Amino acid sequence: MITLKGKGVVSGTAIGRLFFYRRTHAAVKKHLIANPEQETARFWEAQKRAVDQLQELYDNALPTVGQASAMIFHIHQMMLEDLDFTDAVIRIVQEERMNVEYAVSKTAAQLASMFTAMDDPYMQERAADVRDVSQRILQILMNTQNKIQLPEEPVILAAKDLIPSETVQLDPKKVLAFVTSEGSANSHTAILARNMDIPAIVGAGPHLQKGFHGASTAVDGFTGEVFLYPDTGTIRRIQQKQDEYEAHRRALQEHVGKPNVTLDGQTIQILANINGNANLHSVLENDAEGIGLFRSESIFLERDAFPTEEEQYQLYRSVVEAMEGRPVVIRTMDIGADKTPDYFHLPKEENPALGYRAIRICLDRTDIFKTQLRAICRAAALGHVSLLLPMVSSVWEVQAARKIVREVVEELERENIPHAADVQLGVMIETPAAALISDRLAEYADFFSIGTNDLTQYLLAIDRQNHRIEPYYNPHHPAVLRAIWMVVQNARKHGVKVGICGELAGDLAMTATFLAMGIDSLSVAPPLILPLRSQVRQTDVGKLREDILSAL
Ligand code: PEP
Ligand code: MG
Repeated sequence: MITLKGKGVVSGTAIGRLFFYRRTHAAVKKHLIANPEQETARFWEAQKRAVDQLQELYDNALPTVGQASAMIFHIHQMMLEDLDFTDAVIRIVQEERMNVEYAVSKTAAQLASMFTAMDDPYMQERAADVRDVSQRILQILMNTQNKIQLPEEPVILAAKDLIPSETVQLDPKKVLAFVTSEGSANSHTAILARNMDIPAIVGAGPHLQKGFHGASTAVDGFTGEVFLYPDTGTIRRIQQKQDEYEAHRRALQEHVGKPNVTLDGQTIQILANINGNANLHSVLENDAEGIGLFRSESIFLERDAFPTEEEQYQLYRSVVEAMEGRPVVIRTMDIGADKTPDYFHLPKEENPALGYRAIRICLDRTDIFKTQLRAICRAAALGHVSLLLPMVSSVWEVQAARKIVREVVEELERENIPHAADVQLGVMIETPAAALISDRLAEYADFFSIGTNDLTQYLLAIDRQNHRIEPYYNPHHPAVLRAIWMVVQNARKHGVKVGICGELAGDLAMTATFLAMGIDSLSVAPPLILPLRSQVRQTDVGKLREDILSAL
């Protein structure tokens, strides 16, 4: 038995076969280009990024696998910078005026077949390195999104890392758990897994390799342990843990149908976070009072082309109808940063988390934004729907978005298409700017939803994706709590409701604090609803309020 230790980010256990996923090769298209200089510059930039990536891989691998094994990354760097390779690519771009993806793939194919034809078995193996290296550059150039083809039999999915577009495609019925060798606990991938209720471990380390594909495996999402080829004692222990966890969940069912009210009579709304309509059954089983955050970008991430208005409408409609009049807050697409579908053709950026994303894309690409708003306003005719704007940092953004919503409503009216004309417009408070001007934003927003995931990232200047600095990512930091308290007070002064939809909402150690602050709603992954309700029902805020608030 081999034991690997990572960080459990979603509770639960699993026993099954390991399915190791590696990103597949993207299809390279060949076309003529108008500007060879520009195309050559794209190659140099991609080459530089690939070299940097390999350096990081080398640095990370060195302490764990030793210099001899880590050396492969240096060899790949040398191959990338090899003059025969780069000259051949640039010649194709400059002389044949072909796109750089084609040039890289043609050169790599020629080099690989040259190695394969050699007599020396060592040299023959270098063909695989050439393919690996060229694939790295191609993925950078093409910003490749990948599809995971899972077998019918449910498996434990393993990968180096998963990006959000891969995670949202996972079918919880086919994935018993997932384990990544890299990855951060605060990434969208971990959050999406939580919403999908898939036990998950990140950061299991470089020993998690494709050689274990097919291995019998047991996963403990509570402790972050992965057991490859587990012995019978371990299997029994993991099964017992799962039985206890299920019994605990069954016991929580006693809270279904009960109000979210504290011992001293304060109520708070508990809502669900969803990515799409796949786990609505879990939202209903766990008795959510509504949807507090529908991360609508998922529909964009799952596809290879823009979803049509009708496709979006059908999705939103299915959610609104399932919720039977309960509130549904649809966040307009939060694309950008780590969520970058190919077909958006987003520019490469030095600091994508601070870049062209979310509301910034919506206000620029009003065609895409309007299509989404039309679909939402149409679905809103069937229930109780609100809009939520991500990554707001200024009042003018809310004003501009509101103007576009008005235009969309007028269009639908003119076209005689059933819709709701009075959809409420909420603002996510997830940038320090939004928190600091929340008094002003409150004049333009119908409600606030505090996104503590990004608010923590931006307030503390900690990249939430970077597992190296994870110990610094502290949502309990006084700066975060003070910002939340400030937003709540500003919201209150203006009669605006305020909820929390970031992961901190489900942190039971914070429930009393949020109740003391007078937060109106908490929106959490569906499996966290009943534990949160239970916590609320055991709390007596009256006794704690003064102490909690004075300590902020
Ligand atoms: C947040 O930032 O807290 C949030 C809810 O949005 P996301 O996690 O999707 O960025
Ligand atoms: Mg966010």
